[in-house]
Amino acid sequence: MKRLESREVKSLIRNRIKKIRENLSLEEKNLLEKRIYEKFFNLEIVKNSKTFLSYMDFKNEVPTRKINETLIKLGKTLNLPKIIQGDMVAVLNNNRFEIGKYGISEPLGERFYKNIDVVIVPGVAFNRRGDRIGFGKGYYDRFLSEEIYKNSLKIALAYDFQINDEFSGEDFDIKMDIIITDKEVIVVGE
Ligand code: ADP
Ligand code: MG
Repeated sequence: MKRLESREVKSLIRNRIKKIRENLSLEEKNLLEKRIYEKFFNLEIVKNSKTFLSYMDFKNEVPTRKINETLIKLGKTLNLPKIIQGDMVAVLNNNRFEIGKYGISEPLGERFYKNIDVVIVPGVAFNRRGDRIGFGKGYYDRFLSEEIYKNSLKIALAYDFQINDEFSGEDFDIKMDIIITDKEVIVVGE
């Protein structure tokens, strides 16, 4: 039998885990969000960082509304992603949104050109080596490969069922530094 290529394995796992995530109930989601929220704000590096890029969740991704609200309350600089001409960019949150490409809320603030301490990354699946499967468009890979984000700490948020060690990242897949799930904090490389 032909050995499956990394990208085919990624595609199979992407589809399987997306289906599981679609079936999460609101109650489950709220409970798991709370556990992930607590682990996130318990990290010293989060307490000590100033500038963040978070995301606006859609399709049952780990919700970020409470995380984003708390970051603002703590006086952190909060940016959110926006797709401009096919590329993801960081935009300063001003609490005003429009519905962008793919139906995701996008901020109406100014573009943010400075470096970012912590990037909070959504995803469909992650392995324990920090590799990520997204929706298959490579937005985060291209964004995070920019020189200015090389030293940003990449923290992924995921439900426990999204951790999967059956796939390998491809050369262009940018690795996560930390993956927070409802069950554990995975520090990649530890
Ligand atoms: P996702 O990360 O969303 O799961 P993939 O990893 O499959 O998606 O990447 C989707 C596409 O994006 C790939 O076909 C790849 O060619 C392209 N891509 C990823 N990173 C880069 C990059 N740094 N520069 C140019 N294209 C890239
Ligand atoms: Mg990728």
